[in-house]
Amino acid sequence: MPELTIPRELLPRDGRFGCGPSKVRPEAVAGLARQADVLLGTSHRQAPVRNQVRRLQQGAATLLGAPEGYEVLVAVGGATAFWDAAAFGLVDERARHYVFGEFSGKFAAATAAAPWLDAPDVVDAEPGARPVATPAPGCDVQAFTHNETSTGVMQPPVRTDDALVLVDATSAAGGLAVDLTQVDAYYFSLQKGLGSEGGLTVAVLSPAAVERIERIAASQRYVPGFLDLGSALDNSRKHQTLNTPAIATTFLAAEQIEWLLASFGSLDAVVATQRAKAASIYDWAVERDWAQPFVSDPDARSLVVATVDLAETVSAAEINRVLRANGILDTDSYRKLGRNQLRIGMFPAVDADDLAAYTACVDWIVEHLAD
Ligand SMILES: *Cc1c(COP(=O)(O)O)cnc(C)c1O
Repeated sequence: MPELTIPRELLPRDGRFGCGPSKVRPEAVAGLARQADVLLGTSHRQAPVRNQVRRLQQGAATLLGAPEGYEVLVAVGGATAFWDAAAFGLVDERARHYVFGEFSGKFAAATAAAPWLDAPDVVDAEPGARPVATPAPGCDVQAFTHNETSTGVMQPPVRTDDALVLVDATSAAGGLAVDLTQVDAYYFSLQKGLGSEGGLTVAVLSPAAVERIERIAASQRYVPGFLDLGSALDNSRKHQTLNTPAIATTFLAAEQIEWLLASFGSLDAVVATQRAKAASIYDWAVERDWAQPFVSDPDARSLVVATVDLAETVSAAEINRVLRANGILDTDSYRKLGRNQLRIGMFPAVDADDLAAYTACVDWIVEHLAD
């Protein structure tokens, strides 16, 4: 079959709509190139790199509105490593998990596999829906996922009891509103909402989380050195990491946070823009008779990851194949969800105009595939 060529005037300026890794702003990459000779290939124990770690820590605290006394941990390994680190260093005995997709399920699997912990208390919901948070007697951690990237469902964290509230914010941070007084550990990788690269985790920690980390670290529990949150905390206080950090990742995330604050002024202003971008996608889907939002509850529909189901007559795989051939990338459904679906990253780095161009391109493809 000859490949369809989308008319140039319909194309977005930037074709990256993936849900992770997601669009890195070219201006941030240019900024890195300008400072490359003093940062890349230099010691992470010296001031230039430590200053970037500090810039990332301070920027995250400011953007997310960290209350007085909260600390920002930076560690190697991304959210996946943090799940294991938390199973070792933050869960005392038993965790409650809200499971409504792939990522929330992975943390539950990590605590379930830990022989030193009791079996987790899992409250789940069908993909596309979200569980309701309730008190969890006997649990000392409540594990939330602010944005379930695999399904495009948001679950705002709330405190319902005395347990520590741990929130995977990997796709949420910087794009969704958060009240950190409700949260003890707001942790995230940097390659999604923060427009950077993989490899690092940032965790904004409450005094209660810090106290838990220090108590468990001083206890008899065996903890592998790489996953030891106590030593991660010690290093973070010196703007360092236990082992070598991803320096480009650090710089690009710090740059993105500064750009968000400079161009929007506050997280609330970013979220208002996200609301408008998300509405444009969901409204577009509702108006097409061959598309509809996957998430039926409008309040649960993500402002950063849109999932749009397609009618049987229209193939998402075909559409994504044509999009890719035209430089529009990565809007495939989450592989294990197995739906005829488009999944669109609408993170803060993605322009509203480009999202409008995206939907125009999909309209054009649907029209021309039918020919
Ligand atoms: C992508 C993602 C992860 C995994 O991040 P890694 O950096 O690959 O470990 C975890 N949680 C959520 C919600 C994600 O979107």
